[in-house]
Amino acid sequence: MINFLDLKKVNQAYGSELKEACSRVIDSGWYIGGQELTKFEQEFAAFCGAKYCVGVANGLDALNLTLRAWREMGKLQDGDEVIVPANTYIASILAITENRLVPVLVEPDEHSFNLSARLAELAITSKTRVILAVHLYGQLADMPLLCALAKKHDLLVLEDSAQAHGASIDGRRAGTWGDASGFSFYPGKNLGALGDAGAITTNDQELASVVRALGNYGSYKKYENQYKGVNSRLDEIQAAMLRVKLQYLNHEISVRRSLANQYIAHLNNPLIKVPHPTLQEQHVWHLFVVRSEKRDELKSHLHSHGIETLIHYPVPPHKQNAYKELGSQHHPITDSLHATVLSLPLSPVTSADEVGQVIECLNSFS
Ligand SMILES: *Cc1c(COP(=O)(O)O)cnc(C)c1O
Repeated sequence: MINFLDLKKVNQAYGSELKEACSRVIDSGWYIGGQELTKFEQEFAAFCGAKYCVGVANGLDALNLTLRAWREMGKLQDGDEVIVPANTYIASILAITENRLVPVLVEPDEHSFNLSARLAELAITSKTRVILAVHLYGQLADMPLLCALAKKHDLLVLEDSAQAHGASIDGRRAGTWGDASGFSFYPGKNLGALGDAGAITTNDQELASVVRALGNYGSYKKYENQYKGVNSRLDEIQAAMLRVKLQYLNHEISVRRSLANQYIAHLNNPLIKVPHPTLQEQHVWHLFVVRSEKRDELKSHLHSHGIETLIHYPVPPHKQNAYKELGSQHHPITDSLHATVLSLPLSPVTSADEVGQVIECLNSFS
C-alpha cells in the first residue's frame, strides 16, 4: 500500500523533539498567549521575510480576520467585491461572504491552476477592493502581475498561502507579496501542527495589531473591548509543535521537490498531463496534481495497485449547496479542472522507490 499522506510517519520523524516541546509547555503552566507563541511568530515571520506574524486558530480565521480588520480600519464595507479564483478551496470564499463582501469568481490559468491576471483585470469594477490570490497546490500565483494590477487599480492584495509555506518568486516568499497573507497549519499542510492552527503575515503594523485584538475578543487590553471580536488564538502547545517542525521545513521542501522532479522526468503517458512549473522555486509541491480525461478510471487503476490518490477538489465552490446563489455562473475552465485533476502520493515521508512504483503504474495505464 502506498499512502497518499502518512501523517503519523511525518510526525514520528520528530517524535522525541515534539514530546520534549510538549512537556516544556505542560511544565511551564502557561497555555495561551505565552513565550512559545511569541517565538513562533518571530520565527515564522523571519522564515517568510515578513515584518509581523500573528497566530490565530486556523487558516480560515487568518483570511476571515484579515478582511474583518480591513473593515474595522475603514478599508472595506458591505458589498465590496473581492476577486478570487473560482477553483479554490471553499475556505477562501467563506472568508469573503462571512464579512458580507461579494466574491467575484475568476477562472484560473489552466496550466498553473492559479488566478489569471488577465482575467482578473477584466473582472475589476468600481466596487472591487481586494484581490484574494490563492497559491494553489504550493505554487505562487503570478504575484508580480497581480500586485502590479492591484497597484494600478488601488486594490488590497490578500494571499491565501495555506498551501504554499516557503514558495517564492525571485527569492520573495509567500506571505510577503500581498498587503497580508493567511496561512493554515492544519496537520496535512506543508507546515502542519498537531491540531488546528493558522497565522497571518504582514508588513502593516496596524493590521497586525487589529487582527490580534479581533482574535482576542476585540481587546487590546484585558477587559477593554474595542471591537465585537472572536476567540481565535494559536495556543502554546501548537506553537511549540510548529517551532519544532519549522526547523525542518526547508529540508522537507527539498524532499518534495526531488520527488516532484522524479514524477516530471519519468511520467510519459499521453493520457496524463503533468505539471510543468516555469520556475522551480515557485513551487513547494503541497500537492502533485496531474490531469486526465480518464481521471476516474485512472484513480481506480491506481487503487487496484494499492496506490492511494485524492482529488483536490471534486466539486468547485460555485456548485456547492452552500453557494446556490453562485450556481448559475459558468466557469468552464474550473469545471474541467475539477473533472480531470488527480493528486498523487508525495510527502516528506514518501520514498523515491514508492514514487517509482506510482510512475510505473501510471505509465502502464491505457
Ligand atoms: C487548508 C486551506 C484553508 C483553510 O485552512 P484551515 O486551517 O483548515 O482553516 C484555506 N485555504 C486553502 C487554499 C486551504 O488549502
